[in-house]
Amino acid sequence: MTFKDLNIIPAILEGLSKANYTAPTPIQEQAIPAVLAGRDLLGCAQTGTGKTAAFSVPIIQLLSEKSNGPKAARHIRSLILTPTRELAIQISDNIKAYSRYTDIRCAAIVGGVSQKVQERALNQGADIIIATPGRLIDLVNQKRIDLKHVQILVLDEADRMLDMGFIHDVKRIIAKMPSKKQTLFFSATMPPEITKMVKTLLVDPVKVEI
Ligand code: AMP
Repeated sequence: MTFKDLNIIPAILEGLSKANYTAPTPIQEQAIPAVLAGRDLLGCAQTGTGKTAAFSVPIIQLLSEKSNGPKAARHIRSLILTPTRELAIQISDNIKAYSRYTDIRCAAIVGGVSQKVQERALNQGADIIIATPGRLIDLVNQKRIDLKHVQILVLDEADRMLDMGFIHDVKRIIAKMPSKKQTLFFSATMPPEITKMVKTLLVDPVKVEI
C-alpha cells in the first residue's frame, strides 16, 4: 500500500515524500479513505502510531479541493483541538510539512505565547488552526476568531482534555461552530464522559483502532 493507492493528490504526495514518509501506517490506511469520503471518525490510538497524518493529510486534501478565496480573507475551515501547547505545535509543524506544496495555510493558537504573534498569523489567512482550548476560547470571546465556517473538527486526545479540565471550554467552542460538519474524534481511553460526547457529536462514525 502506498499513499498514491489512497488517492492522495500529487502536491501532498510530494510533501510526504520530502518528509520521508514512504508507506502509510495501519491507522493511516484505515482513516484516510474514510475521512476523504466525508465520514465521521472515532479513533482509539496513541501518539506514535502516525495519528497526526491520519487526520491531517485527508483534511489538507479536502480543503485543497475547494478554493478559499484570497489569502487574507480566508475563513477557518478546519479546527484541531488538542490538550497541550507542545502537541499543537508538533501537529502544526507536521501539517506545514505535508502541505508544503499546496496552497493550504495553518496556524497554531496556544497559550503562553504572545497573542499578537498569533493574530498576525491569523491575519495572513489560515485554513486550518490547531489550538489548545483555553487560548482559543479567549480569542473567540474577543471576536478575533470566527468559527462559523468550520467544516471539519478534530478532537485530539479527548480523554486528556477531559483529565486536564478542558471539557467545558471544548463544549463552548463546539457551540460556536455549525452543527453540520465532519468530526474526527481521537481518544486513547473511553471513560463514560467521553462515550457521552461521542454519542452527541459523531454521526455513524467509522471506527479505527490500533
Ligand atoms: P504521530 O503518531 O502522528 O505523532 O507520528 C509518530 C511519528 O511517526 C512522527 O515522527 C511522524 O512524523 C512519523 N510518521 C507518521 N506517519 C509516518 C509514515 N507514514 N512514514 C514515516 N513516518 C511517519
